[in-house]
Amino acid sequence: MANAKRKTTCAIVGGGPAGVMLGFLLARAGVNVTVMEKHADFFRDFRGDTIHASTLEVMHELGLLDAFLKLPHQEAHRFDLHLGTTRLSADFSHLPTRCKYIALMPQWDFLNFLAEHGRRYPGFRLLMGTEVTDLIEDDGRVVGVRATGADGEIEVRADLVAGTDGRHSIVRERAGLSVENLGAPMDVLWMRLPREANEGDEPALIAKAGRILVLINRGDYWQCAYLIAKGGYDALVAEGLPAFRARLAAIAPFAADRTGGLTSWDQIKLLTVRVDRLEQWSRPGLLCIGDAAHAMSPIGGVG
Ligand SMILES: Cc1cc2nc3c(=O)[nH]c(=O)nc-3n(C[C@H](O)[C@H](O)[C@H](O)COP(=O)(O)OP(=O)(O)OC[C@H]3O[C@@H](n4cnc5c(N)ncnc54)[C@H](O)[C@@H]3O)c2cc1C
Repeated sequence: MANAKRKTTCAIVGGGPAGVMLGFLLARAGVNVTVMEKHADFFRDFRGDTIHASTLEVMHELGLLDAFLKLPHQEAHRFDLHLGTTRLSADFSHLPTRCKYIALMPQWDFLNFLAEHGRRYPGFRLLMGTEVTDLIEDDGRVVGVRATGADGEIEVRADLVAGTDGRHSIVRERAGLSVENLGAPMDVLWMRLPREANEGDEPALIAKAGRILVLINRGDYWQCAYLIAKGGYDALVAEGLPAFRARLAAIAPFAADRTGGLTSWDQIKLLTVRVDRLEQWSRPGLLCIGDAAHAMSPIGGVG
């Protein structure tokens, strides 16, 4: 069967924060865009989901803040650091922004919100379940992409291809853009622990005996990020779940009785951390942005 063909002004590869925001901004400016996201939906529990005060300021500048803050979220006005026996607190009340806090919201709500607002503009197309497999080039210029969707292969021709497909970007690889790897000493294990109503609301970072656990309040559970040495996952799995639960209990004794809910490694997701950047972000017809251009560490980075 012949490939389906589409034409757009900007083909955006990847529906993460960078791609969906770019699609929204261009559609709002009257540009035709086609955003392609390989997953069928945004429901992936894979990020810290902190929406920083600076991002909220951007939402305000776009006239979206009031509607955005109607979505369920928690507000972190402080960030507590428990370093051994020392307690420190970062207080956001002095920030020069409208919202003097970090909003905690699942990334799928953030992305659905942006997509919904993008769809209000006639030039906005979002193709979910559509995986870009290759670039189309013509005489050294990138002129489109090949993708596989629910209805088979498609070709999307475009004046500009934007690579927003994240830290494992196929766009940058196919374009032959070279990556400067700045190295990251850690990976992150992501899991949930039940939260009790009387526990503190604010997110916290607990560092004890060389181990680090970040806790983010998600109502009836803590979203937890446990930092491990880069490449240390296999050794941890080999030690077994009881040993891992004991590690968690040691760093967060208050939750020791709740680690028993972790009964399978399927409940614990490994996120490999990369810190890198492209030496050159563009080629004729192509621009990479977001993690595809510069993956940042979750420590101190605003995604
Ligand atoms: C452990 C961890 C925690 C983090 N926590 C936070 C946080 O709390 N707050 C924050 O601001 N930042 C956080 N970050 C950083 C933030 O997640 C990233 O900077 C941000 O997600 C980058 O957005 P992006 O759109 O460039 O890439 P991504 O979010 O990676 O999105 C890329 C998208 O492209 C899609 N895709 C990939 N390949 C293809 C393809 N071939 N075809 C079609 N689609 C494709 C993917 O499915 C994905 O949806 C964290 C990062 C890590 C590693």
